[in-house]
Amino acid sequence: MRYNKIRKMDISNGEGVRVSLFVQGCEFHCKGCFNPETWDFSKGKDFTTEDMNSIIELAKKDYIKGLSILGGEPLHPKNIECVAMVAEYFKYVYPTKDIWLWTGYKYEDILKRTDTHNILNYIDVLIDGQFEEKNKNLKLKWAGSENQRCINVGKSLRENKIILKEKML
Ligand code: SF4
Repeated sequence: MRYNKIRKMDISNGEGVRVSLFVQGCEFHCKGCFNPETWDFSKGKDFTTEDMNSIIELAKKDYIKGLSILGGEPLHPKNIECVAMVAEYFKYVYPTKDIWLWTGYKYEDILKRTDTHNILNYIDVLIDGQFEEKNKNLKLKWAGSENQRCINVGKSLRENKIILKEKML
């Protein structure tokens, strides 16, 4: 997998102070995307063991609440296996820190896929759905457009229905 950047301290993508991983590559090409430089799968840098170790080291501090994974598209077939490994290892080292992940895929469609490497088991909060310019709303807390949802993944899996973490507005 290739990635665009790692942010050491991010206060705008998820609750609290977080480490953020922006993966490289997205085929959705949503009109008005906030991050079009992450579309090209050949750009960015190779994600290496050193990068994984660096995320673990950065997240060591008590004030880091968790890891945010954005894109690009973390759940694209080219990225999902590596992202699942990152999420699993992060949770193994820090079981009490949370993982938020932003994806253009819908939760229901992710459940139907056979190539997820069980990633949902390691994600706490999923912001799903493509950005829709016609539904853009700058007041939304964690998303760009009103069609996107902020899903409590653990509860949703347990109860077998979508449970929102909170209202976006
Ligand atoms: S899914 Fe996200 S990264 Fe991909 S084009 Fe849409 S807004 Fe941009």
